[in-house]
Amino acid sequence: MKNSVCVKCGNSDIFENKYKTSYRAWTKISMLTRVRIIERICSQCGYIESYVEDVQKFREQLAGVIKKGG
Ligand SMILES: [Zn+2]
Repeated sequence: MKNSVCVKCGNSDIFENKYKTSYRAWTKISMLTRVRIIERICSQCGYIESYVEDVQKFREQLAGVIKKGG
């Protein structure tokens, strides 16, 4: 689960970047499969956590990639 506070300093003021426009919005798993990444940035110490937006979808896509042999 995502923490509501920074794991490094305990600060609760976290900026969530969903990369609506950035080229980093998507990370490719394969040629046809991509997942959306969310970054949570601590405003106190600057620590950045990255998450896949939809883990369930990510797992399904990953399974599909493996089944097809990459
Ligand atoms: Zn912090």
